Amino acid sequence: MVIQCMKKFSLLDYPGKAACTLYTAGCNFRCPYCYSAPLVIDTHKNREIPLEEIYRYLEKCKGLLDGICLTGGEPMIQHGIEDFLSRVRELGYEVRLETNGSFPGKLRRLISEGLVSYIAMDIKNSRERYGETVGIEGYDVENICRSVEYLLSGAIPYEFSTTVVLELHQRSDFEAIGRWIAGAKRYYLQRYLDSESVMQGGLHRYNDSIMQQALEIVRENVPSAKLRGW
Ligand code: SF4
Repeated sequence: MVIQCMKKFSLLDYPGKAACTLYTAGCNFRCPYCYSAPLVIDTHKNREIPLEEIYRYLEKCKGLLDGICLTGGEPMIQHGIEDFLSRVRELGYEVRLETNGSFPGKLRRLISEGLVSYIAMDIKNSRERYGETVGIEGYDVENICRSVEYLLSGAIPYEFSTTVVLELHQRSDFEAIGRWIAGAKRYYLQRYLDSESVMQGGLHRYNDSIMQQALEIVRENVPSAKLRGW
């Protein structure tokens, strides 16, 4: 379990809760719009935070923090995530897990063992354009579909979200995503934000009017859909 960054306190990362956010190193995807490229690629450059240091902090903050937000990178590629989350749960914390959804078996196991309280999963794009959007040509979307299906079944509170990029998402993609996750409890569209740490340069975001149109399209099948980060 390699954690390379810790935000000790946040009221935003785990909505409704005071949380500590932990960032794991590495990811199995290479999304061109990823703004965590240093965490995903240059993992050797960053300091690894000893787990005992994290446990000590969480022990000290009992009663002050409600939970942790585990994000990355992709937390599910970490060996020892089960042991880590068991320890966090024993300390009495809620766990929000952010994932790209490519490990449906592990996701199901963590949920059935009560190691997570809330799942935030990316829907990168329509199934047809997944490979292009995660930076892996020909990516087989089967595992993503299994995770989506499992979360839609209501096994645990969850949300889906899509980072919208002008070069990657078109009207037909929003229509397809809406049909795919029809009836989802929570779904957010968020605009791509350019930054120095982004995986690939030259990408753009849509303006407010197009984002609003995209929202209306997905709402035909996902009435809960909202824009986030405005
Ligand atoms: S956006 Fe998420 S899934 Fe994509 S490369 Fe970055 S950390 Fe991995």
